[in-house]
Amino acid sequence: MTTSLPADMQRALMTGIRRLRYDRAPIPEPSPGEVLVRVHHVGVCGSDLHYYADGRIGDFVVDGDFVLGHEAAGEVVALGEGVTGLAAGQLVAMEPGIPCGRCSHCLSGRYNLCPDVIFWATPPVGGVFQEYVTHPVWLCFPLPEGMSTIEGAMIEPLAVGWHAGNLSEAKIGQTAVILGAGCIGLMNLLALRARGLRKIHVIDRLPLRLGRAAALGAASVINNAQTDPVAAVMEATNGRGADLVFENAGHPATTALTAELVARGGTIVLTGMAADPRVTYNFGPLMSREATIRTVFRYHGCYPAAIEAVASGLAPVLDVVSDIRGFSELESALADNLDRKAEIVKMVIDMRT
Ligand SMILES: [Zn+2]
Ligand SMILES: [Zn+2]
Repeated sequence: MTTSLPADMQRALMTGIRRLRYDRAPIPEPSPGEVLVRVHHVGVCGSDLHYYADGRIGDFVVDGDFVLGHEAAGEVVALGEGVTGLAAGQLVAMEPGIPCGRCSHCLSGRYNLCPDVIFWATPPVGGVFQEYVTHPVWLCFPLPEGMSTIEGAMIEPLAVGWHAGNLSEAKIGQTAVILGAGCIGLMNLLALRARGLRKIHVIDRLPLRLGRAAALGAASVINNAQTDPVAAVMEATNGRGADLVFENAGHPATTALTAELVARGGTIVLTGMAADPRVTYNFGPLMSREATIRTVFRYHGCYPAAIEAVASGLAPVLDVVSDIRGFSELESALADNLDRKAEIVKMVIDMRT
């Protein structure tokens, strides 16, 4: 261990619905194969906000004091035994899920489906709204020269959009529709643009989000509170529909819309948590179109490509970030994020202030 580390660290504990308290905890010691990272930036995810506001997401229930946060980047400050390939001072983006590495899903490469994955800020596993964290070296990805830890923290949501792009097998020349222009929808847009797609139409109800989508290169933005989205997409695609339809809102209405928007032979990719059992889905339009439906759960193997896309300027993730707040004001930051949804696209917490 390095001698310059402080005696202990600060953590933010969720202690109840919309309740937060700071405490001090020992700085963890890296085990063999792990590194100790000083966390610099953590993105606030929709899942963090769900846990904070409702205490649960589906079967995952927060029980007792709980640390939120899983979109993180920081600086390596100490190495566990046997660690090679990383040195103290290196900035890294950390992939937040530790898969078992042994099950059939892990061995097939689809480790996001590992039933034994340990994933930050998913009860009972705590997250990274704390100053230091230990993590396996193979899940810490070095940031290239010049890349910031804000961008590093945004690799996690970009990986979700990237995986959706991979599953859709998006190709240059195809037309895409993205439903929902929150953080993941915008990351989805960046991932598709990085793959060379240009005819990407984005649908949302919030003007701020649509403005971001337009600035990030959407071919058109459609406000479905004012315009019939099916008519708008049909007009933009000469009546064909979209080759690729991405659902990122998880709302019953937008999930149902995917069947109306997809072209013959097209692909629908569901990323939003469509957990609502009231989704009424008309499979009829899909039958004659031989359309495919795919679902997205997190990602696998996307960090290196996502980092490369950001470093090369193909995916300007900083333009998705709308708010940067200090760790010391986390409680008001989370409250604002919940209560001022129309004004905040993506919040990042600076863990050093
Ligand atoms: Zn996230
Ligand atoms: Zn596994």
